[in-house]
Amino acid sequence: MSAVPETLGKPLRGTMGRLATVAMVAAVLWAATLAHAQTDVAKMSGAGHDIRKFKIADGIFQFMTMRDSYVRELNSVVIVNSDDVLVFDTDTRPSTARLILAEIRKITRKPVRYVVNSHWHPDHWSGNQVYADTFPDLEIIATEKTVEFMRNSASLWPKKFRQQLDAMQSDLEKEIASGKGADGTPLTTAQRSKDEADVRDYRSFVEEAATLRRVYPTLTYESRLTLEHGGREFRFMSMTGDAEGTTVLYLPHEKVLITGDAVSYPIPYITPPPTRQAETLRELARLDADVIIPGHGPAFHDQQFLRLELALLETVTKGVRDALRNGAQTLDEVQRSVTAEDLREQFTHGDSDLETRFRDRVKALVKLAVREARDGQDLP
Ligand SMILES: [Zn+2]
Repeated sequence: MSAVPETLGKPLRGTMGRLATVAMVAAVLWAATLAHAQTDVAKMSGAGHDIRKFKIADGIFQFMTMRDSYVRELNSVVIVNSDDVLVFDTDTRPSTARLILAEIRKITRKPVRYVVNSHWHPDHWSGNQVYADTFPDLEIIATEKTVEFMRNSASLWPKKFRQQLDAMQSDLEKEIASGKGADGTPLTTAQRSKDEADVRDYRSFVEEAATLRRVYPTLTYESRLTLEHGGREFRFMSMTGDAEGTTVLYLPHEKVLITGDAVSYPIPYITPPPTRQAETLRELARLDADVIIPGHGPAFHDQQFLRLELALLETVTKGVRDALRNGAQTLDEVQRSVTAEDLREQFTHGDSDLETRFRDRVKALVKLAVREARDGQDLP
């Protein structure tokens, strides 16, 4: 996900009533992506979560949490070594991490020795305590920047989540009172139950977020870290993803690349200066990888989506530069001229909810690109 204040509101508020369609379309898209790749799929449900397991390579498994509070298709990657296990990202809350750990126990009895936190956004490290409590020798790996951002942000989240819940609850009450969904169409019984379930799920998330114990990384690095361990080579690289100091993990022998939110599906998260994230994507494209596991979304077996995300960043930064040089005076003017419409269909495949998200994301991206192009200055 991108930074909490910017994205927490958007995926849920105003989209109640359309999430089911998104889920269906997303399912169809995966089916297409995974048809040639999937070697083992299991589905586990518990505590209201739907988590799916995909075997990526020998001893390497992707666990995808389909939806949880404000996030979708969130990945935690499990790598079994000769004597122990490494887990890349620990999900949105301890109860989800516990479900994944229970699944790891079915794969192997080896202890988890390393956890990696790709970046500071709370959907990627809020299950740390589960691993730290279970495995006393655990090391948690992240960049120095990530730890800084974690420590500077974590105390703000419980209140932020609570406010988000209050807003959802109030939207739901308005829907029920008016008999109309967020898009103005009559509220059906099925839709009402679904929206009520979303609020319940978010409430349980808020309660967990309020009481969870923050466990911070113990093994930090600045730009590169290589670990020869348990019969594998792990190359950790600090890059600009949708957060500065994002850890990307590359396994050169297995040709597996795990990106955190430097790559995210279906509509990419982008928050730092766009040209820096674009540079990361170019660097990732140069690595010899058979499989790319993004922070959110299915594993990719080619560079198609990575290159599409790069094309979006390049299209917007170039469009913004042109608009500014042609005399645009306001942000609104630039946002109206730079829409990346030519790329929209490749991200949204005709789904109306994804189209709304795409347009909103492009607007946000244009704002970032303007800021970067003008040395930190926004336009009025
Ligand atoms: Zn994320």
